[in-house]
Amino acid sequence: MPDLVVAGAGMAGLVAAAEATERGARVVVHEKGSRPGGSMLLSSGVVWRHRELEDFRRECPGGKPELQRLVHERLDGDLAWLAGLGARVVARSTGNRATVGARFDTRSLTDALARRVGDLRLGEPLRELPDGTPVVLATGGFQADRDLVRERITPEADSLLLRATPWSTGDGLALGRSAGAAATTGMEEFYGRNMPAPPARIDEAQFVPLAQLYAHHAVVESDGETYEPTTWSEIDVVQWTARRPGARAAYRVARARLAERVGERTVGEMVAAAERAGAPVHRGSGDVTVEVVAGITTTLGGLAVDEHAWAAPGVYAAGNDVGGIATGGYSSGLAAALVLGRVAAARALEAG
Ligand SMILES: Cc1cc2nc3c(=O)[nH]c(=O)nc-3n(C[C@H](O)[C@H](O)[C@H](O)COP(=O)(O)OP(=O)(O)OC[C@H]3O[C@@H](n4cnc5c(N)ncnc54)[C@H](O)[C@@H]3O)c2cc1C
Repeated sequence: MPDLVVAGAGMAGLVAAAEATERGARVVVHEKGSRPGGSMLLSSGVVWRHRELEDFRRECPGGKPELQRLVHERLDGDLAWLAGLGARVVARSTGNRATVGARFDTRSLTDALARRVGDLRLGEPLRELPDGTPVVLATGGFQADRDLVRERITPEADSLLLRATPWSTGDGLALGRSAGAAATTGMEEFYGRNMPAPPARIDEAQFVPLAQLYAHHAVVESDGETYEPTTWSEIDVVQWTARRPGARAAYRVARARLAERVGERTVGEMVAAAERAGAPVHRGSGDVTVEVVAGITTTLGGLAVDEHAWAAPGVYAAGNDVGGIATGGYSSGLAAALVLGRVAAARALEAG
């Protein structure tokens, strides 16, 4: 009999399993997909926090202050722990002055964590809660379940691009709820990116390079309405787009703005990438218009937990299965998964 069962071999689940193994526990990790790494493997690998806790509070006002403080205070130590496991750090900064953290090579991060897990059961989803063994639910949210997304987030669910693995369908949420865990507010919130619209074809290797991240340099229009972005992360723009007809919008960019930089790329480079992928792009004499579709990456609402990642008796949760951290805004899903994953494993074994 194991000391701990973990559902999900993505960021939170692998971290929880590695922490538990380090503590000498016998751990079984169930993974629904055919490989470890979850959406983390597809991600940019930037594990970050706001520079100041007050900024986290201000940008994510609906989140639980105790959980935000926990992530804020533990992240730097947890990043050092992760690097110590052999995960390759690509950059020791985030490229954003408002945040601090590190960027990991996600292949190396997955491998470094997965090799610490003795019993990793690929293609074996956790379907019911174990009897008498503590469990960490880390199944990655519910963005891949169209019905839940339609019910909770947008009637345009069928038009959204799923910008994540296909396996996170709300299993952790359902299992946690069946044990009596509460759900948080903000179930209608999600993190994502606007992406080149159909007929563009986008495979998972293109989720990061094809993101259209220049709403601040564009006039954003959909079905006769315009939208003014309010956040640097543009999370408000993608959430607005998701609720427009066909989950679509158009970005109209003046030619003079194409040379503007957003992170490592120029606006013009992002437009050209969308065009190459097959999105409708209309070039006028003074501007360029790109059609985009909302891409859903992770849901932000989920199970309610306390500072020990406890959700219900014997049931702990981490990663995107947990809500109440980024509510009202956006914060690093990888950071929350790292911090809560370690806390969940430690507490589950202590309480054991
Ligand atoms: C393109 C992209 C870019 C991103 N960039 C960033 C970034 O730079 N910084 C950042 O902080 N975040 C980023 N994210 C988000 C980040 O990847 C997630 O927040 C993070 O992976 C969440 O960790 P998790 O463990 O909850 O979910 P995941 O890493 O997705 O792992 C969940 C795992 O659970 C498995 N699973 C599902 N159901 C079951 C079941 N019943 N039983 C067993 N296993 C199950 C899934 O198959 C999956 O492997 C990005 C995501 C994507 C897709």
